[in-house]
Amino acid sequence: MSRHSRNDQAGVELPKAKLDRESIRQALELFSYLRPYWARFSAALVSLFAGSLLSLAFPYLAGSIVDAAVLQTKGGGNMSGVNGTALLLMGILIVQAGLSYFHYLSFSAVGQRSLIDLRRDAYARLISLPMSFFAQRRVGELASRLSADLIQIEDTLISVLPQMLRQTTLLIGGLTLTAITSLKLTGIILASLPILTVVAILFGRRTRKISREAQDRLADTATIVEETLQGIVNVKAFANEGYELNRYHQGLGIFLTSTLRGARLRAAFISFIVLALFGSIVLVLWSGARLLQQGEISFGNLTRFILYTTFVAGAMGQFAELYSQLQKAIGATQRVRELLRETGEVEVKLGPTAPSTLARLRGDVAFESIHFTYPTRQGFEVLHDINLTAASGQRIALVGPSGAGKSTLISLLLRLYDPSAGRLLIDGKDARDYRLAELRGQMSVVPQEVLLFGGSIAENIAYGKPDATAEEIEQAARQANAHDFIMAFPEGYATLVGDRGIKLSGGQRQRVAIARAILKNPVILILDEATSSLDSESERLIQEALEVLMRGRTSFIIAHRLATVRHVDRIIVISGGRVVESGTHDELQAIEGGMYRHLASLQFRE
Ligand code: ATP
Repeated sequence: MSRHSRNDQAGVELPKAKLDRESIRQALELFSYLRPYWARFSAALVSLFAGSLLSLAFPYLAGSIVDAAVLQTKGGGNMSGVNGTALLLMGILIVQAGLSYFHYLSFSAVGQRSLIDLRRDAYARLISLPMSFFAQRRVGELASRLSADLIQIEDTLISVLPQMLRQTTLLIGGLTLTAITSLKLTGIILASLPILTVVAILFGRRTRKISREAQDRLADTATIVEETLQGIVNVKAFANEGYELNRYHQGLGIFLTSTLRGARLRAAFISFIVLALFGSIVLVLWSGARLLQQGEISFGNLTRFILYTTFVAGAMGQFAELYSQLQKAIGATQRVRELLRETGEVEVKLGPTAPSTLARLRGDVAFESIHFTYPTRQGFEVLHDINLTAASGQRIALVGPSGAGKSTLISLLLRLYDPSAGRLLIDGKDARDYRLAELRGQMSVVPQEVLLFGGSIAENIAYGKPDATAEEIEQAARQANAHDFIMAFPEGYATLVGDRGIKLSGGQRQRVAIARAILKNPVILILDEATSSLDSESERLIQEALEVLMRGRTSFIIAHRLATVRHVDRIIVISGGRVVESGTHDELQAIEGGMYRHLASLQFRE
């Protein structure tokens, strides 16, 4: 698959951010995050505005100093005028410094605080989205895009918006004051304005496109790094470090090409601006000198005028950059807003989870004529007309060849997906009529590959019940036959596992997962049996622990080794997405030419 189409598939390419009324209005929605900090934000705006106005006093007073000095050289006036103005200037600078400190700090504080709120909400939304959302996207790309978007928004709040206000004030104020100082000279400056504007707009359009492309390419490389690191064991096992490096290097090459294209354009624009800036200063000096000769303008006014012109030109030069930043920010807000608009399957809130209002279920499960097609694979029905009931406390084993649909069936039970047709009933009620979090709160999964989180063993067990006490954790560990191996570590339950801690063996991890499930005390239990066999001692410990765990709960076991399913209440044989046989071990063994019998004989021979 080409990288581009993979990107399309991810569905998160940078949206076009036109600065029209609609996109701005929508982007402003995110300003609601500023609301709690509104007072400080307004104070910062006022202080920024005041500071910018004070800047405008600078050229004026500079002009006054020049005039006073010229007057003195001509024999009139004295130094006190010059000194007084200089002191006033110093005073203004000090006030300005204070204001700068205040508004810079305020924008940072307010921007960061509201960004934290936004990050938290985006994260909450992200983890609450249904599986179908994740199936359609490359998760690594999604994560890196989201963080890039948030950084862009952060930058906008903290520096782009304040700069825009400052430059607008300087531009309008500067132009007004140049006009007051000398109408003629201002006319000359304004004549060159349209050319600048047209160039800036053309440039803005072009850079936007190129920088979007560069950002996409950079995101591609980030995805490569992420995927490689996630699968680092595979990479090493296949000795594919070189292959990955080449893939990364190629990605970087593509990024370099497009980023250099952007840089060339920017370089051209900057040299144009420099030329225009100095050109206009030369023009002003030249016309100013003539006006001075003709006595139409004073030295002081010419000084003022030149200084104001640099303000105005500086502001105009900044605008192109700020404009493109703003466009990027609006593009970024679009994606963040899209994410916030997606409906999560559960509601996640900060603070302790509200206690479930759902009474403890009995655990009767029924699949009624269930059909299922993965949303990402339309036209390919994975499950066809599945009928299956499990009464409270029964043990049901699902067996069948690889790809038959066992895991899919379990995903439906967990409501990671909903059936395309048919109904899933739990205690006689449609599973869709339960609140999802409450329903899942009464289920537990012991997966094939147990994922432990970074943290202590105790915390990992408590994942099944975050408010569990130390006693409860230990009791669960004992029941799961995990207590002894845990106590063999010098730090016992406080031993860190995961990335920065020790690594548990497969059998030990299984038992931690079982303890986790015991602690959660589910009504419905799902066991995805590990395919790899363990040594007989750990096998025995795990089987014992599972016995404890399954007692009194409706259990579904995805069984890969048929030896473990002999004593279940019913074995369901699934093949090609259909239930082909169902019954006890003995019943199924008795079917001449039956699939179970066939599978069993294969395993037996092994
Ligand atoms: P195994 O024993 O190998 O785990 P299984 O019986 O659990 O197999 P499933 O994982 O349920 O089989 O897969 C059933 C079918 O659904 C397969 O054809 C598989 O390719 C397809 N499938 C599984 N997950 C998805 C998905 N997220 N999107 C699209 N198709 C999927």
